[in-house]
Amino acid sequence: MAAGGYDFAVIGGGLVGAAIAFGLCDGKRRVALLDEGDIALRASRGNFALVWVQSKGLGMPDYAQWTRRSSDAWQGLAEQLKRETQIDVAFSRRGGFTLCLSDAELQARSEQIKRLHNQSDLPYEILDHAQTKARLPLIGPSVAGSVFCPLDAHTNSLRLLRALHLGFTRRGGSYLPHHAVTKIGDGFRLETQNGTIEALRIVLAAGLGNAALAPMVGLNAPVRPLKGEIIVTERTGPFLQHPIVNLRQTDEGGVMIGDSQEETADLRVRSGAIATMAARVLAMFPHLAALNVVRSWAALRVMTPDGFPVYQQSPTHPGAFLAICHSGVTLAAAHAQHLAPMLEAGALDPSLSSFSAKRFDVQTAA
Ligand SMILES: Cc1cc2nc3c(=O)[nH]c(=O)nc-3n(C[C@H](O)[C@H](O)[C@H](O)COP(=O)(O)OP(=O)(O)OC[C@H]3O[C@@H](n4cnc5c(N)ncnc54)[C@H](O)[C@@H]3O)c2cc1C
Repeated sequence: MAAGGYDFAVIGGGLVGAAIAFGLCDGKRRVALLDEGDIALRASRGNFALVWVQSKGLGMPDYAQWTRRSSDAWQGLAEQLKRETQIDVAFSRRGGFTLCLSDAELQARSEQIKRLHNQSDLPYEILDHAQTKARLPLIGPSVAGSVFCPLDAHTNSLRLLRALHLGFTRRGGSYLPHHAVTKIGDGFRLETQNGTIEALRIVLAAGLGNAALAPMVGLNAPVRPLKGEIIVTERTGPFLQHPIVNLRQTDEGGVMIGDSQEETADLRVRSGAIATMAARVLAMFPHLAALNVVRSWAALRVMTPDGFPVYQQSPTHPGAFLAICHSGVTLAAAHAQHLAPMLEAGALDPSLSSFSAKRFDVQTAA
């Protein structure tokens, strides 16, 4: 154990850092979780809460496999959090749909899922309008059909973040808000606005903040913000048992709508994006026109150049690890239950070697 310091310091208290820190904490190790604090920009507080499998990993089988591992471990994580924190994160895995509003959309989506199935043995069904209506009776006539994957799920991601933080502190971890790391020295000495923290090993899990931190330990974190906007309606009676990629009914009864993607860090909510999302959803479920919108917001996804995660140990500063992904809800179980033990063991499994950011150097050279 580090004398006067920590065995591990995880930098970033969003979903990625909190899941890893929760997994690292077993009562024996001293683990610190450093964060900027409540004013921080966090994808973890503004996301859509899907635990989504059906579109993940085409072109990178290891990512499809990693997503599947997380999806399979999710129920266990939800039960563990309930046991340790009494917080129900409302995890529900009944399968999810992508609804298509034209034959061309359905064709394109079907081809994509077939390729994913051929690559990674993903279970799926392609359904025409009548078959979709048999499972989702309230769809409108504009729905041409759908793609269904039985592995897709959703949760309450704000409660997930709260539960991971509470579980972490109950397991003996030290949460240190207002500790934005500005410099990483040898050893590791982390300089923050509230003093210096020392740790034997560190995990960079600071979302978009990783871009500035990674070079301090010989790593590269090529992340960019990708804006997404979300609308929530007033509560209504249960009408939807399954999440849809751009629409879901929360455990509290509200309807969340959102799948916009915009290459900007401007967090203002744009009426254009909201109107486009709402129009698509009304074509899918016309009865939602009667509901009032109660809230809308924008948040920034943490995107890598190819959209796949980065997990890597520094070659120049052994003991410094980097963790980046754009699906931190989906991957929370993998981070807590599979990644954290690898960090504790001091090395990433060979099955994660394709996630190194070195793949971007190769692309640049090609
Ligand atoms: C609109 C939208 C919809 C989404 N929908 C889904 C979805 O349905 N399913 C899914 O799986 N994922 C979804 N995501 C993605 C998911 O929210 C993110 O993958 C996840 O929140 C990223 O977590 P993170 O911890 O990496 O980053 P963040 O949540 O951004 O947290 C980073 C943390 O690091 C801290 N930090 C930054 N710099 C420093 C520093 N120097 N020192 C200390 N702390 C620092 C910040 O304070 C912050 O708390 C969505 C994202 C968005 C924006």
